[in-house]
Amino acid sequence: METNEEKQLKLDKRYIRMAGIWAENSYCTRRRVGALIVKDKMIISDGYNGTPSGFENVCEDDNGVTKPYVLHAEANAITKIARSNNSSNGATMYVTASPCIECAKLIIQAGIKRVVYSEKYRLEDGLELLKRANIEVIYIDPNE
Ligand SMILES: [Zn+2]
Repeated sequence: METNEEKQLKLDKRYIRMAGIWAENSYCTRRRVGALIVKDKMIISDGYNGTPSGFENVCEDDNGVTKPYVLHAEANAITKIARSNNSSNGATMYVTASPCIECAKLIIQAGIKRVVYSEKYRLEDGLELLKRANIEVIYIDPNE
């Protein structure tokens, strides 16, 4: 018999792999990040890093530097919920890179309670902020 923890880990691995596939939608060439928001076993939102709606789908300027108005995958997933009838309150976010501090703030204010991520980033301040807000933070190696 599988324990609830084992079942949850299996689901977490599947969703994080799906977030990885979703990241392939990104037009950004430097880095592609995907995010899913799951609540009650339903995907209620998704996002990948990219420019705002209506802007050309190019993330980097001529020098290869990311444009300042590119939204991170987490911000795109959270703001997509703002345009829907769903609520992210109590949801889990799956994101292929550990959230930066700006996205961590949005995750806290969106009422997200768990964050599962699959790639460590050099800066840990986003993760630290999430933990301070009592959000469960889980790292999963998608290749395991
Ligand atoms: Zn971010």
